[in-house]
Amino acid sequence: MITLPKGTKDVLPEESYKWHYLEQRIRSVCYRFGVKEIRTPVFEHTELFLRVVGETTDIVNKEMYTFDDKGGRSMTLKPEGTAGVARCFAENGLDNAPQPTKMFYLTPVFRYEKPQSGRLREHHQFGIELYGSYSPYADAEVISLAKSFLSEVGVKELVLHLNSIGCSQCRKEYSKALIAYFTNRKNELCPTCLERLEKNPLRLLDCKVETCKAVAEQAPVVSDYLCDDCKNHQKKLCTALDTLGVEYVLDPKIVRGLDYYTGTVFEFVSTSIGAQGTVCGGGRYNNLCKEIGGKEVPAVGFGMGLERLIMVMESLGISFGDAPKRKVYIAPLGEEQYPVAMKLVADLRAKGVCADSDIVERSLKAQMKYADKCGYEYVVVLGADEVEKGIVTVKDMMLKGQTECRISELDKILK
Ligand code: ATP
Ligand code: MG
Repeated sequence: MITLPKGTKDVLPEESYKWHYLEQRIRSVCYRFGVKEIRTPVFEHTELFLRVVGETTDIVNKEMYTFDDKGGRSMTLKPEGTAGVARCFAENGLDNAPQPTKMFYLTPVFRYEKPQSGRLREHHQFGIELYGSYSPYADAEVISLAKSFLSEVGVKELVLHLNSIGCSQCRKEYSKALIAYFTNRKNELCPTCLERLEKNPLRLLDCKVETCKAVAEQAPVVSDYLCDDCKNHQKKLCTALDTLGVEYVLDPKIVRGLDYYTGTVFEFVSTSIGAQGTVCGGGRYNNLCKEIGGKEVPAVGFGMGLERLIMVMESLGISFGDAPKRKVYIAPLGEEQYPVAMKLVADLRAKGVCADSDIVERSLKAQMKYADKCGYEYVVVLGADEVEKGIVTVKDMMLKGQTECRISELDKILK
């Protein structure tokens, strides 16, 4: 048998309502925040991700699904959601509209990672992109949206870790300090980190190798190197979050795994799903649009891993709302009633009722068993008598009671 590719997941029919539930809550919170949906292709020119995500990141170095198409162009399946949105924003001149622009996306994301709990090769992200504001209040808006969504789906245990990795000015000083520190402890670093030391020292803080993590633990912290503007930005953001009642911890160790961040970075972290506990990561990226050839447009956003969110909800026993039930099953008694049952079902469906009849040609007993197992709320047996009188008996499968009803009025009972 051909099997599922490693690191991917099927969503089975009985589970899909969980995704619908989350998607509905996402659309609902975005509607209230005035955020519109943006959809971009699943693949883009590889060049886009090299520029945006950064050539020294794990994603670009090891994790991208890159292929040449039949025309010999190098294409890559989205390894994250932000780059495509930035490309679309610049290409369509969306920066000419009144700013800020607030967008959300729901997208599959592809990364060639070592599959493990909470780490897939295809996962799905809900993301927010807010363009056109340098203000810390835009950061607060984006964080507050994430928090509102998480609260509304009942996930209250995530801790918001907040940091600033500084602007290009203060990052220079900080990078120097990092290089000095890590050079001193060179012999304790993994080969990739030795490379990072040359190319992008900030990446050293994001290494997942235990020995490197231990060295990074005592590294200089960025908060000691922030310029006045960056400090001020963070202070205003914190005041806004305090006022909104959004709790956070300042965590100088958060640097994020992508190169495009400037200033604010944050993560919502769970303690209930093990090592891969980061459910949502985001921050500010003011240079991104310019980087891909557009104007300078400041931006802030986040990406939230929906499989991880589902893991958190399941581990805490949080409900996804009720699994939808099928409403009514019409069981034709004999040969002649089959087309009549189908017509009745068609009429009910046209009136908005969820209805089915037997399309397997089974015995009545087998039909009843099927209807019971599939969780129909009501069953109606349709014999010659019922058709002639225009009256049927509606069986309530849960309460085990039954009522008589005119066929023409069935939809009223069932709605
Ligand atoms: P991590 O540090 O766990 O590798 P990341 O920094 O690579 O995460 P982002 O690129 O910021 O993650 O993606 C945003 C969110 O998407 C993450 O916080 C996480 O919830 C989810 N995510 C990222 N990679 C995966 C994956 N391989 N499988 C499932 N979910 C993922
Ligand atoms: Mg990663």
